[in-house]
Amino acid sequence: MTHHTMTDSAMSGRALPPSLWAATAIEAPPAPALTASARADVLVIGAGFTGLSTALHLAEQGAAVRVVDSHQPGWGASGRNGGQVNPTLKYDPDELVRKFGAARAEPLIDAISGSADLVFDLIARHRIDCQPVRAGWLQLGYTAKAVDGMHARARQWERRGVKVEMLNRDAVARRVGTDAFAGGWLDGRAGAIQPLSYTRGLANAAQRAGASIHGDTAVVSLARQAASGQGRWKATLSTGATVEAEHVVIATNGYTGPLWPGLSSTLLTANSFIVATRRLSSAAADAILARGETASTSQRLLLYFRKDSEGRLLMGGRGFFADPRSPDDFAHLERSLELLFPQLGPLDYAYRWSGRIAVTRDFMPHVHEPAPGVTVAVGCNGRGIALCTSFGKHIAGRLTGEGAGAGDSFPYPISPIVPIPMHGLQRFYVAAGVAWYSLLDRFG
Ligand SMILES: Cc1cc2nc3c(=O)[nH]c(=O)nc-3n(C[C@H](O)[C@H](O)[C@H](O)COP(=O)(O)OP(=O)(O)OC[C@H]3O[C@@H](n4cnc5c(N)ncnc54)[C@H](O)[C@@H]3O)c2cc1C
Repeated sequence: MTHHTMTDSAMSGRALPPSLWAATAIEAPPAPALTASARADVLVIGAGFTGLSTALHLAEQGAAVRVVDSHQPGWGASGRNGGQVNPTLKYDPDELVRKFGAARAEPLIDAISGSADLVFDLIARHRIDCQPVRAGWLQLGYTAKAVDGMHARARQWERRGVKVEMLNRDAVARRVGTDAFAGGWLDGRAGAIQPLSYTRGLANAAQRAGASIHGDTAVVSLARQAASGQGRWKATLSTGATVEAEHVVIATNGYTGPLWPGLSSTLLTANSFIVATRRLSSAAADAILARGETASTSQRLLLYFRKDSEGRLLMGGRGFFADPRSPDDFAHLERSLELLFPQLGPLDYAYRWSGRIAVTRDFMPHVHEPAPGVTVAVGCNGRGIALCTSFGKHIAGRLTGEGAGAGDSFPYPISPIVPIPMHGLQRFYVAAGVAWYSLLDRFG
């Protein structure tokens, strides 16, 4: 059995960490370091879904865009996630209306609800070869009480015209291939992709639209060029070169460092871990999630699972703050998979990896505009494929003043940067090896 386990050194290196996605993705787009100083209308920092979708939509509207990433496009969470395209937030639509009032909540709900359409439309329009499957997402509960709550959520979306299915124990057992669950619901908007291929496809599309993308290039500082009288921003890069731009978009999510004061202390960065088996026999694979649905469980200690397009089973879930050190750190996920599908017998794992998500105190995505010409979009709370793609489209509209997101049509709440109190405790919890959920419980 081979163990492709991401070590601390792989994490800190510039190479993409080993994962199922790294092993099976489409070719990486050329993204050479930026070594000569340059100018741009917009400098985008971070080449994940958020940064690349922003760049693609801006370039399509004629802006001169440069994207820089300290690693290569897709090195962050965008190239390592579970590939479940879910157009939802933590909060159900009715809760959002209660929280923000109808006038602010409805455009937000529309943007979120349409975000999976956006992903699959971009895949089709730019012919991104990323194994798209649109068979829906199953949310599954272990108890009748949990299932009742899910069905209430499903009815909220149903009232808004979304195709949902309420499933009882037998229906779940037939579709998922396990009798572990009391029931669940299917969200017909959702689907699955190969996330690193999608990221690279977005990068290719952005380049074709005219954006420049540079890997191995970190922004080490940002300063306003007040002396020029034009208020441009000047970014100093790890290569020694600089970029001057009218506007800067910070899209660093779970890998946010000290670049913008206070920003990293608005986020709890937690690791999510994933394992993938070798290919199952076709009979075994056909009996599990036969239509290609994705699935996750309802508990706080959420588990998410799916098959890839070649019949491998993936299971993801909580990790600890610390990066994984050995295959043992994934044992809880492997046990969960084997408990769900005992009929498969002992499973053979080919890949184990992890990545960092950014959790906010209110579990909402955060858009900040902390200074003229600076936009920050972070806090995807573990569901960023659809959300970050939507962020990018709407931020582009907001910056160019054209299309979706322009003017008052920007759907995401814009908030000030407010650090989480006692954020420094995160380090203590890392050292103590306590699950990040304990920390969230304290702040929650
Ligand atoms: C294991 C795992 C499983 C997940 N599963 C799912 C899922 O199934 N479905 C779903 O919707 N979401 C999932 N998510 C969440 C999703 O992957 C993220 O929300 C999303 O990828 C965030 O994208 P991003 O572009 O904002 O950030 P990232 O993709 O993390 O990119 C940030 C980039 O910023 C760069 N960077 C940081 N600092 C600098 C600097 N100073 N200069 C230059 N570059 C810098 C980093 O190198 C990095 O590439 C998962 C996440 C993880 C980790």
